[in-house]
Amino acid sequence: MTNSSEVLIVGGGIIGCSIAYQLSKEGAKVTIIERESVGSQASGAATGLLVALASVETPGPFLELTEESCRRHKQIIPEVEELSGIDSQYGDFSWLELAFTEEEEKDLKRDLGWKLDTPGVSWFTDEDIRKMEPRTTPKARSGLYVSGQAQVDAYRLTLAFAGAAEALGTTIRYGDVTGIKTRSGRITGLETSLGEISSDKIVFAMGSWSKGMEDWIGIPVPVEPMKGQSMHLEVSGPPIPCMIHHISSYVAPKLGGVVVAGTYDGFMGYDLTIHEKGKASILASVEEVCPGVLDSRVVNHITGLRPSTRDLLPILGVIPGLEGGYIATGHRRLGITLSAITGELISQLVLGKPTRLPLDAYRLDRFDGMEEQQFDSFDAAH
Ligand SMILES: Cc1cc2nc3c(=O)[nH]c(=O)nc-3n(C[C@H](O)[C@H](O)[C@H](O)COP(=O)(O)OP(=O)(O)OC[C@H]3O[C@@H](n4cnc5c(N)ncnc54)[C@H](O)[C@@H]3O)c2cc1C
Repeated sequence: MTNSSEVLIVGGGIIGCSIAYQLSKEGAKVTIIERESVGSQASGAATGLLVALASVETPGPFLELTEESCRRHKQIIPEVEELSGIDSQYGDFSWLELAFTEEEEKDLKRDLGWKLDTPGVSWFTDEDIRKMEPRTTPKARSGLYVSGQAQVDAYRLTLAFAGAAEALGTTIRYGDVTGIKTRSGRITGLETSLGEISSDKIVFAMGSWSKGMEDWIGIPVPVEPMKGQSMHLEVSGPPIPCMIHHISSYVAPKLGGVVVAGTYDGFMGYDLTIHEKGKASILASVEEVCPGVLDSRVVNHITGLRPSTRDLLPILGVIPGLEGGYIATGHRRLGITLSAITGELISQLVLGKPTRLPLDAYRLDRFDGMEEQQFDSFDAAH
């Protein structure tokens, strides 16, 4: 195997694989270096919701980025499914955000009421909620209903991006990247457990492990792992019709009658252990939003680390002061949603083309001088 590549990508999560697919489509010779297996981390653990409007809390450029990504998924998913032969289980999805008290109702209308101007979004009374899903908690007094969203099986979509990239010539190699090689401010290669691999274009898509590259590039990469856990439940009655969400508790229907229930655990380092406490908190979250499905059979329990930044936006772009170095990380709870647009934008950047959308707001050096803020001070629901 040659120890050089036109473009190297560090990390075989959905972000690295989507970038590899777009670059290969443009004819670039790409190698992904992954230290475990493709989709083994956050991308394989994710619920798989492709949600722009349902999830982004304020209108603006970040909503535009997520909406554009959802539009791009519509075209890209059939392409990668065909090239890879993997069905990503792409399908429709809707979301109901509940309010339990008058105060929560006021907050929801104040913070998310702007969504009501959008087609497919409506305000549900308690009667509407009960009519749609009688097993919803009786504590719900109203809610914001967002239809027209989509979902996939996140692990399958990651494998589909990887398989499609391979079909177009990408090589995937398994090894640990431990450092970089540079000459006169330009990147020239990687130090890895497979030996040195040279390239003058390298994309770092290391998810929650991105902080590990700080010593390599000499500038801060403020990305922290935010633990998330979910359980797959086999519901005995009819499938639930939409995601039912309240603050940090949710149940979400997947294809084949399985429901995913989860919580956001917060910042606990790299601990991926499934604790009894975690199981109990997921079941408490099911009870909180949809107690009528509490008798479901638990078929799986998974944990993963969402790569999170201080300002909740991803980091996308060039690495300042390191010619030929690029970074794509910090996608937090929207990495599956943003994978399509991230692949396109980073590929355009690497190939020296104008990017479809501006990347300025996602620069790595935007954190310079930003007041130090503790990650664990965030509301876990972020
Ligand atoms: C429980 C849960 C539910 C979620 N649900 C959703 C959802 O419904 N919708 C949504 O849009 N997002 C969701 N997310 C978020 C989403 O999963 C992440 O934002 C996304 O997967 C990040 O992708 P990534 O490729 O950056 O990271 P990862 O998938 O973590 O991949 C990074 C890869 O880099 C590799 N790596 C790191 N360091 C090195 C090194 N030095 N050498 C070689 N390889 C290295 C790792 O082994 C890993 O495979 C969820 C996350 C979790 C945990």
